[in-house]
Amino acid sequence: MADRISLLPDHIANQIAAGEVIQRPASAVKELLENAVDAGATEIKLFVNDAGKTLLQVVDNGAGMSETDARMAFERHATSKIKNIDDLFHIRTMGFRGEALASIAAVAQVELRTRRAEDEVGTCIEIENSLVKKQSPVASPAGTSICMKNLFFNVPARRNFLKSNTAELRHVVDEFIRVALAFPGIFFSLTSNGQQVFYLEAGNLKQRILQILGSNYNAKLVSVKEDTDYLNIYGFVGKPETAKKTRGDQYFFVNNRFIRSAYLNHAVMSAYQAMIGADAFPAYVLFIDLDPTQVDVNVHPTKQEIKFEDEKIIYAFVQAAVKHALAQFSITPTLDFEL
Ligand code: ADP
Ligand code: MG
Repeated sequence: MADRISLLPDHIANQIAAGEVIQRPASAVKELLENAVDAGATEIKLFVNDAGKTLLQVVDNGAGMSETDARMAFERHATSKIKNIDDLFHIRTMGFRGEALASIAAVAQVELRTRRAEDEVGTCIEIENSLVKKQSPVASPAGTSICMKNLFFNVPARRNFLKSNTAELRHVVDEFIRVALAFPGIFFSLTSNGQQVFYLEAGNLKQRILQILGSNYNAKLVSVKEDTDYLNIYGFVGKPETAKKTRGDQYFFVNNRFIRSAYLNHAVMSAYQAMIGADAFPAYVLFIDLDPTQVDVNVHPTKQEIKFEDEKIIYAFVQAAVKHALAQFSITPTLDFEL
């Protein structure tokens, strides 16, 4: 019998790998916004047409890339953010896997324009099916613009899995909001089919929360802040009266990374105890900062799930910090947990 195993061509391997990182326009929003943040941008603009299916563009005023880096950026496992496995546990950037741009270039048509402040001219690169179609010098403002066109144009099966524009735009907005909440010091805007959806001036966390969740939360947010040697918790929780029948408006960030954690959500909910009904959900935007050696962010490609070295301690801290913040609303006296 003949041998049967063959290596997949690069562009197919890339398309398969891309499935883990880019499932929908919103996945690209997350990756591209995070890249702009990592590049030190102070202004980040997101434009989408048709919920990002036909066009998704992120423009930043960050560090930009050299001509060589602009090309390298699209190689799989190409990153400027880590050099070895130890770095993973000291990670301060949002990215590190070096997979996002390679993935996007495998499943969409991409146009990159970038210039470093110190360079006279910038670089323009067009890529399709992971192959560079065109590369040329270009006049460009300092920073980077990445256009992703016709997502899944070459993977019809995946394109068919995309939901309606309304549903996909909802996901896009969710990702946009998560990054914008995590970095209130950065200006963000979102334009959809030429219409401005968000225009978020740089400010502090409270201002950013009000910009996004609505000014009706003004005077209805309670500050949470506890610092210990092990971790810092800060942010805001809604007064019990703001608890709604639907979930939403609940955000946890660990070292500025949005995470989903039913466990930590439970810690917050339990702090409200009898102040809210069992089927009511309070708003919260909470940040936990701790030594990166205490978290493993590399357990999932989208990094939304993370592993804590000691989950129980974090739970206790979160619960105590929120309880402390809410003490004024408590009807029954609670024992103050010593942090
Ligand atoms: P990662 O973010 O995990 O490093 P990416 O594929 O997202 O991987 O990006 C690859 C590299 O391209 C980054 O490490 C960075 O050096 C560069 N890069 C990507 N986006 C930008 C940007 N907006 N500005 C400057 N450099 C960027
Ligand atoms: Mg990245």
